[in-house]
Amino acid sequence: MKTKVLICGAGCAGTALAFWLARAGHNVTVIERSPSLRALGAQIDIRNQGIEVINRMGLLEILLSKLVKEEGTHMVNSAGEVKAAFGKGNLNATAEYEIMRGDLVKMLYEATQDHENIEYIFGKMVESFDERENENDNLVHFSDGSTDSFDLLVGADGQGSRIRSAILPPGGKEYRKLGIWAAYWFVPRIETDTNTMSMYSSPGGRLMLRRSHNSTETQVYCIFRDDENTEQLNKLMRAPAEEQKKYWKQKFHDAGWETDRFIAGIDDTANFYCHEVVQVIAANWVRGRVALIGDAAHCPSPLTGLGTTTSLIGAYVLAGEITRSPDDLALALKNYERVLRPLIKEVQVVGPLRIKMALPQSQWVITLRLAIMGFLCWLGIPDLLSQYVTDTSEWQLPHYPALDL
Ligand SMILES: Cc1cc2nc3c(=O)[nH]c(=O)nc-3n(C[C@H](O)[C@H](O)[C@H](O)COP(=O)(O)OP(=O)(O)OC[C@H]3O[C@@H](n4cnc5c(N)ncnc54)[C@H](O)[C@@H]3O)c2cc1C
Repeated sequence: MKTKVLICGAGCAGTALAFWLARAGHNVTVIERSPSLRALGAQIDIRNQGIEVINRMGLLEILLSKLVKEEGTHMVNSAGEVKAAFGKGNLNATAEYEIMRGDLVKMLYEATQDHENIEYIFGKMVESFDERENENDNLVHFSDGSTDSFDLLVGADGQGSRIRSAILPPGGKEYRKLGIWAAYWFVPRIETDTNTMSMYSSPGGRLMLRRSHNSTETQVYCIFRDDENTEQLNKLMRAPAEEQKKYWKQKFHDAGWETDRFIAGIDDTANFYCHEVVQVIAANWVRGRVALIGDAAHCPSPLTGLGTTTSLIGAYVLAGEITRSPDDLALALKNYERVLRPLIKEVQVVGPLRIKMALPQSQWVITLRLAIMGFLCWLGIPDLLSQYVTDTSEWQLPHYPALDL
């Protein structure tokens, strides 16, 4: 059976799913809320089985040509002195495959845009949909007033998914709050910015990252922990960018290290973004002929470095299960959730201790942590572990022969 599929959202998950479904001969429409492809964002990781998915797409060579040449991660003190040095690796902050989000989205879009079975429509959203049991389809009402029917509707519309809200039981919990708030922006690269990520902790649960992805720009990430002022911070996340920038400047002005330079660049950047760091924990990813993939289903938070990896894997598994049960979409959707859940369960484990250790409150913990990490790095332990252990090692990527090239 060839299905007619509507994918809502042209991010990594939506474009990857379009790729696989079209390869299997299904007809796909992708609608994206933005008037054009949102090829934006900072640096993201592709790890473990996510790399194998790209390989099976036949896109590994293109991916390799677009990677950011980050060599590893340094933990530094307020004077910028390197106290612990990590290479690239499965468990390290710098993954083997680092890429700017925009480059990955563009690569996936370009691999699909001219396919005869795929149509992209920008500036369009789903207003509502009716799941029609008799017709075995969804009647979808769009934001431009049009309607159409689809065998399958997929929410690939990111962390704030509207499709998810529509299929979860009323009042169902959608997020696990971590009490973490993050902003990033770009500043001009200077001579002393290297191809190594620098990580600096400051008292008050504040963390700053500096990483350079090309010869002219450096990314700045400012992250802090605060689970006491949630209401005020939530309001700030909805405020105009100018107000948000003012808050971040005030919050980090006395953090030390290269803060003055970073703050000086915040007003001129075209790439400022801030958000609450959360995990999506939807109780169900499927209802009837509607399914969720990527961040819409299971955003694990940037803390894990696995959001893009799991979204690529999820797209492959959903398409694969549809090919495995070609005459029974309900069974395919059920199997998609059954196969993927164990991986997501493993990936989403972010305990309170991990958060506290990532964002310590006091200077003495920061100093102690730098000393311990420095000693472990001197012994070579983190890099050795990273060669043999992955954080998704228990889970095997299925093979779906019908999706092979
Ligand atoms: C602009 C942007 C920048 C990002 N930057 C970073 C970053 O710097 N670091 C990081 O770790 N992660 C970032 N992310 C998140 C990261 O891309 C995802 O965690 C991961 O790649 C999984 O992708 P996804 O396709 O599930 O979700 P997303 O990448 O969030 O893609 C969702 C897509 O759906 C679209 N959309 C949303 N609502 C609707 C709607 N109602 N109808 C139609 N389309 C809709 C969005 O515009 C977007 O194109 C960013 C996401 C976006 C959208």
